[in-house]
Amino acid sequence: MKRILVTGGAGFIGSHLCKRLLEEGNEVICLDNYFTGSKRNIIPLLDNPYFEAIRHDVTIPFMIEVDEIYNLACPASPVHYQYNSIKTIKTSVMGAINMLGLAKRVKARVLQASTSEVYGDPEIHPQPESYWGNVNPIGPRSCYDEGKRCAETLFMDYHHQNNVDVKIVRIFNTYGPNMNPDDGRVVSNFIVQALKGADITIFGDGKQTRSFQYVDDLVEGMTRMMATKDFTGPVNIGNQNEFTMLELAEHILEIIGSSSKLVFKDLPKDDPKQRQPDITLAKKHLNGWEPKIELKEGLYKTIEYFDALLGQKISV
Ligand code: NAD
Ligand code: UDP
Repeated sequence: MKRILVTGGAGFIGSHLCKRLLEEGNEVICLDNYFTGSKRNIIPLLDNPYFEAIRHDVTIPFMIEVDEIYNLACPASPVHYQYNSIKTIKTSVMGAINMLGLAKRVKARVLQASTSEVYGDPEIHPQPESYWGNVNPIGPRSCYDEGKRCAETLFMDYHHQNNVDVKIVRIFNTYGPNMNPDDGRVVSNFIVQALKGADITIFGDGKQTRSFQYVDDLVEGMTRMMATKDFTGPVNIGNQNEFTMLELAEHILEIIGSSSKLVFKDLPKDDPKQRQPDITLAKKHLNGWEPKIELKEGLYKTIEYFDALLGQKISV
């Protein structure tokens, strides 16, 4: 049994990761300030005596003895990370420093949840890890993109300078149950809008693309990455099937059988036009890992989740 710290463990991805690590027989400590996460996501885990939830902000140092650290704490939706952009960059940078310092002291292996946003609005398609990206350092998305880029730098510097055992995964757009209905990201927005019969908000002309990964595939990739030897990454973890936002809306409307109308809103500044992972490196280093869950199957599961949640009329 390992003792594992998951920062951002009450969030969408973090809650799935905590569940998986507990199922594998580990002791899990979830650290979260509940900015975008929710106790609702971890309530099913609280009965497990090997699970512990601690309210803490990663910008403040934290002392504990652990074997592994997954560092996920950071708002991930543009709406939320732009709400307090200075806090977002502090969370990425100071959070990374605090978790790396902890890992150094207790000799823990530490994995950073980085992002496809390090590629910005990419000029190379699909994006391999060797691509340095096209990021605006002073735009509305910079607090997130540059915060995550700086965190990657810190991870590699702690590795080279202090021998800290680091892993970096670059996560591409991920969706699934436990997303916050007010999250603001496209999959949750469209599903909630379609279930409520509200207008579907397409930003821009809807021809921009994203490649959507179901959360179980991501968690499989992250745990495999944590288990690798002599490989720090960064490694892309994502699904290669690319869709326009119009196609995504069509799929969701069809599954739900909703008559919601599409309405077109302004495209947010610096919104990337296209995004698709090159996952050659992941397949090579993560034991043949590749995504298994197709968009339609993943959407069904996610819609079921939101349908039940909205039916319970939980205040969200
Ligand atoms: P999320 O917003 O659901 O989860 C983030 C969690 O971090 C929340 O529980 C939040 O309360 C917590 N948090 C935020 N700031 C904190 C702080 N200062 N101290 C402690 N806790 C804090 O988002 P998610 O989609 O689950 O993302 C998890 C991680 O994965 C993030 O680091 C994100 O950047 C990364 N990521 C996600 C995606 C995606 O598509 N979901 C894509 C790329 C990268
Ligand atoms: N988007 C949209 N309608 C929405 C929310 C988002 O058309 O209600 C678009 C957004 O402009 C972007 C894409 O969907 O082009 C993905 O947005 P999201 O915020 O989910 O992720 P990110 O832009 O960070 O990849």
